[in-house]
Amino acid sequence: MNPWLGKIAILTGLVILIGMRLPHARRGRKVTVAERRTSIQETAFHVLLGIGYITGVLLPLLFIATPLLSFADYPPRRWAFASGLALLGSGLWLFRRSHAGLGTNWSVNLELREDHQLVTSGIYKHIRNPMYAALLLYAVAQTLLLSNWIAGPCFLVQFTLMFILRLRGEERMMSEKFGQAYEEYARRTKRLIPGIW
Ligand code: SAH
Repeated sequence: MNPWLGKIAILTGLVILIGMRLPHARRGRKVTVAERRTSIQETAFHVLLGIGYITGVLLPLLFIATPLLSFADYPPRRWAFASGLALLGSGLWLFRRSHAGLGTNWSVNLELREDHQLVTSGIYKHIRNPMYAALLLYAVAQTLLLSNWIAGPCFLVQFTLMFILRLRGEERMMSEKFGQAYEEYARRTKRLIPGIW
């Protein structure tokens, strides 16, 4: 199987992902921040976020455009391409739905915006962290689509660590801000996989 199929798929996915994020990042800068949480975990999260440009952009581009990582190549498989493509499509769809649901309540930092609303509808009716689920799907897709032991799984490793560092702090912040409303929301939803976890 031609490795370029997976390379083109992830390159297209990356462009779509960044294209979806940019307008929200621009709009987000205009919304006033009411409260920002800081902690050692959150600092580590931001260090990893910076490393994300290496694992999610630089290493995939090096693999796609240069022979520098070719020592870690393995033969691409048809099943990996097909399932990677399906996960990439689902991840991008979920990313779009979660941005649409959160609107101006979205932020990269652990923070609450002025007039922050607790979103419990749309995709947030089914899981509490659809955006993180979307990025995890994207990360698994990158692993399957890039047939290289470094450029493939590096983003998945980095993002899983980021997710672990962020999750509890975010839930604590939401619970302190929205109290009972958040507790009830958390009781009727799962974190990542509807009905399971
Ligand atoms: N964990 C969510 C959101 C990621 S963006 C997801 O994966 O979809 C992170 C910011 O979103 C947090 O700083 C918090 O302010 C905000 N947030 C998280 N869940 C929210 C919700 N249900 N309603 C409103 N804002 C939320």
